[in-house]
Amino acid sequence: SNRIMLGPLVAAIDQGTSSTRFLVFNAKTAELLSHHQVEIKQSFPKEGWVEEDPKEILQSVYECMDRTCEKMTQLNIDISNIKAVGVTNQRETTLVWDKETGEPLYNAIVWLDLRTQSTVERLINKTPGRNKNHLKHKTGLPISTYFSAVKLRWLMDNVEKVHEAVLSHRAMFGTVDSWLIWSLTGGKKGGVHCTDVTNASRTMLFNIHTMDWDPELCKYFDIPMEILPKVRSSSEIYGLMCLGDQSAALVGQMCFKDGQAKNTYGTGCFLLKNVGTKPVMSDHGLLTTVAYKLGRDKPACYALEGSVAIAGAVVPWLKNNLGIIQTSTELEQLAADVGTSYGCYFVPAFSGLYAPYWEPSARGIICGLTQFTNRSHLAFAALEAVCFQTREILDAMNQDSGIHLSQLQVDGGMTSNRLLMQLQADILCIPVVKPSMPETTALGAAMAAGAAEGVSVWSLNPEDLTEVTSEKFEPQINPEESELRYARWKKAVQRAMNWET
Ligand code: ADP
Repeated sequence: SNRIMLGPLVAAIDQGTSSTRFLVFNAKTAELLSHHQVEIKQSFPKEGWVEEDPKEILQSVYECMDRTCEKMTQLNIDISNIKAVGVTNQRETTLVWDKETGEPLYNAIVWLDLRTQSTVERLINKTPGRNKNHLKHKTGLPISTYFSAVKLRWLMDNVEKVHEAVLSHRAMFGTVDSWLIWSLTGGKKGGVHCTDVTNASRTMLFNIHTMDWDPELCKYFDIPMEILPKVRSSSEIYGLMCLGDQSAALVGQMCFKDGQAKNTYGTGCFLLKNVGTKPVMSDHGLLTTVAYKLGRDKPACYALEGSVAIAGAVVPWLKNNLGIIQTSTELEQLAADVGTSYGCYFVPAFSGLYAPYWEPSARGIICGLTQFTNRSHLAFAALEAVCFQTREILDAMNQDSGIHLSQLQVDGGMTSNRLLMQLQADILCIPVVKPSMPETTALGAAMAAGAAEGVSVWSLNPEDLTEVTSEKFEPQINPEESELRYARWKKAVQRAMNWET
């Protein structure tokens, strides 16, 4: 047959909150050759609970791989040229399975889930001075519903099967990366139970200075260390390589230098800034997290991170809960029709507020309504909310470092919304730069995988890359108007805080 000769290829499994993708890149040029995507169902069994089915997640990975390989065969590309597969995943989402049967013992508890709110409040009340940053010196994180340890604690306390499996030494804990890698490397017939430093740094059980599980933290949450996966670097052959999705995006955007940053707009929104090889603690509500460790003997790099829980997640909410749109394109259209929120502000604090507030008791509000307000204004306010939340994080980052970013690199599913990108530039008063190849998260994971196999010439050396093409959105409104709207947003946020107390 007429096989196209392309040389080595690298691939990535990108398991996100709303969908799974498999993508294949040319290892020499980083060109995206083929991919497939499958949506993932989320269930909301109770108010504030968010779950996904671990088997459906695994099945979606197989389906994406099969379909992508079919597409490549149709394109006459030899799939045996795939030299390495990277994994990148939604972070913090918590799973426990039985290592002898291979069966998940409960649904995956998704990062957005709020069921541990009372546990978190109890833990904070027990700390000296009711300090949610009590464990921050070791973990870089505030005590919050967001991270895995409290979710795992909930599973051990509330799910009989999990409790029993832990007692009988059959339980394995993992985030989605661990579940996938264990399953894909053989599962109950000897799968590799591991995670990487970036995912581990989001569990609250990991010491970001020693780069290992911390016995004291495990004791604090009363979690037996034997159920934890082995921690590896982010670019290492363990069957597959892995990186948490936000770290992979940082790599995919080539943010290897101290001070470089990117913002990813998916279900949530995550702004990460590379701070180099020493962890920097934030005084303005940001997380300190492991950015990557690209090889066993390479140093770890750290990032400051501002996490926003609800960004793209407003789209399914407006669609399924309010019924005012059918598709995400329609959201953009509606908002563009009016080009203003007409003074309406929408704080989508569905899962409390994350950075910079870390307030689990916050709840969403829509305010500033008049007789004149319609669904177009609401659509506009929903997009604007994403931009204001990003502005709050960027401000915190600027305050922490004293250095102001001169432009913002962006990626993620929501960046296909051009109105959103323009609004973001307007609200930040700096240009927003979007790469023409939007799958930077998968690219980062494929790069880390390729580097470990030694196949990519462009591996982790930005100078080797041919000029990345991108699109730039310049601020178009005057800064005074921008400040005025931002000040109103902050007032709205204050009204969303402490809703339950
Ligand atoms: P994740 O990795 O969290 O699953 P993705 O990066 O795949 O997220 O982006 C998907 C998210 O982006 C969804 O929440 C979806 O609603 C949102 N989204 C996609 N296209 C648009 C659009 N044109 N306008 C607004 N939101 C969008």
